[in-house]
Amino acid sequence: MTTATDPQPRDAQKMEKIVSLCKRRGFIFQSSEIYGGLNGAWDYGPLGVELKRAVKDHWWRHMTQLRDDIVGMDGSILMNRAVWKASGHETTFSDPMVDCKTCKKRFRADQLDTSECGQKPSKTPATCGGDFTEARAFNLMFKTYVGPVEDDSSMAYLRPETAQAMFVQFKNVLEVARKKLPFGIVQIGKAFRNEINPRNFTFRSREFEQMELEYFIPDSEADGLRWTDYWLEERLKWYESIGIPRSKIHIYDVPKEKLAHYSKKTYDLEYHFPFGVQELEGIAYRTDFDLKQHQNASGKPLEYFDEEQKRKFIPHVVEPSAGVDRTVLAILCEAYAEEEVKDEAGKTETRTVLRFAPCIAPIKCGIFPLLKNKPELVAKAKEVRDLLRNHMTIFYDDAGAIGRRYRRQDEAGTPFGVTIDFDTLGEKGPELKDTVTLRERDSMKQERVKISSLLETLMPKIRT
Ligand code: ATP
Repeated sequence: MTTATDPQPRDAQKMEKIVSLCKRRGFIFQSSEIYGGLNGAWDYGPLGVELKRAVKDHWWRHMTQLRDDIVGMDGSILMNRAVWKASGHETTFSDPMVDCKTCKKRFRADQLDTSECGQKPSKTPATCGGDFTEARAFNLMFKTYVGPVEDDSSMAYLRPETAQAMFVQFKNVLEVARKKLPFGIVQIGKAFRNEINPRNFTFRSREFEQMELEYFIPDSEADGLRWTDYWLEERLKWYESIGIPRSKIHIYDVPKEKLAHYSKKTYDLEYHFPFGVQELEGIAYRTDFDLKQHQNASGKPLEYFDEEQKRKFIPHVVEPSAGVDRTVLAILCEAYAEEEVKDEAGKTETRTVLRFAPCIAPIKCGIFPLLKNKPELVAKAKEVRDLLRNHMTIFYDDAGAIGRRYRRQDEAGTPFGVTIDFDTLGEKGPELKDTVTLRERDSMKQERVKISSLLETLMPKIRT
């Protein structure tokens, strides 16, 4: 739980525009909206779900397919309660909470200077003069019951992180993966935290998704520090590959006195969101804390046998832990742009564009027949659609003026558009027959491309 040292100017207006675009274009809706919503819960609409899937697929590919040393797993959300006792979550996974007796709102004690007072929204609880209770620890884990009897013995938690499944399955995975150290396990999945103050759109939700890596390494501190730096660099490169430049990420090297008790080194990667500089991902060297805790509590050995050194030990671990929803939000904030352009009649208009990196764009290519009532054009456009949709997400749009259709796709962040016109049909001569106009979203440049070379032109641009 950290904040950056260099506060940035807030841009509430930009954030409002992004939230409104997300709803209007179907990226993100409030959960249970028709019933007034549920605080801290969000639904991803048609574009949002594609964006989120693309981010997760991209992360997964970079972590597993493109490497030899990492394998994946998918653990259950419900786990034996003993897991959370051993991990320390049952006793220590809490935030300090205070109640305001004046406005009756509840706040995180460490966020009094950034929260909003319940009675005077222009003030913070730190300045409103409210009457607060002493701070109390509030455990963030959601409780539920497994089976028909609701008593202490059937109590279980919704996991507050995905990591623990990878620790408790360490031995099973190690045996089947037949890997030597260093090796890692990755997982993507839902996590739940009963946050005291969900806020800043999806940034702090009660239900969210994580992408976590547990990277197991030899048991020396020198190795731990080296691999933490290695993963810092790898993760920065990954963010760059999805369109979040290093210059927008603040690396918070958590000072020793603020480290969690099990960590010898932690970097928080913080993004310059419009509402401030906030954590996107934590990269923590967790020593052998987790495996040791589970070995002691379960009585089952979780050691690694080093064949060369003929020595058994509990591996240490470096954990890069990223939030899917926070990554998606950072991508949206980074991609959002408004610019003045000339429309077809030469009039100046404002175009809203999401400049997504093509590899994570929800729709890769728009397909536009110039007219929808000309059967030959429509047939050709459908031919192009069928050619491309086998390889990428596409959107077929035949409604309205072509300029309007381009704008709609600009707003959806679609990097490419293909227009099928009379030239495609060969009406202006054989040399243009079976060519289409390929439009690039950011430069708005258009070039003529043969239908037969469309795939080879687009594929290298949308894959990384
Ligand atoms: P914070 O300080 O913001 O509460 P944290 O340090 O508790 O975060 P971790 O436990 O390190 O977070 O979780 C790893 C990642 O999971 C975070 O970097 C973030 O991307 C994501 N995450 C954690 N809590 C939430 C939440 N309430 N909503 C959305 N994403 C979250």
